[in-house]
Amino acid sequence: MALMIQTNCSACDACLSECPNQAITKGKPYVIDPAKCSECVGFFDEPQCVEMCPIRGCIVPDPAHPRAAA
Ligand code: SF4
Ligand code: SF4
Repeated sequence: MALMIQTNCSACDACLSECPNQAITKGKPYVIDPAKCSECVGFFDEPQCVEMCPIRGCIVPDPAHPRAAA
């Protein structure tokens, strides 16, 4: 499971320090490492990068790394 950052990222830095897994790196757009992103499960109720991102819809589920079926 992982989220991904889309090209409308403004590189505002808000998400960078919020990730409990240090999964986010700077870039244009910023990049989430799918090997590190846990979608914040076990840390927070909601993905912290999504909570912090000022651009609605910028951070979305990565279709290449979906959540395991329940
Ligand atoms: S969902 Fe959580 S673990 Fe994944 S990149 Fe965002 S803050 Fe980091
Ligand atoms: S909070 Fe959103 S806009 Fe800001 S750097 Fe992170 S993904 Fe980009």
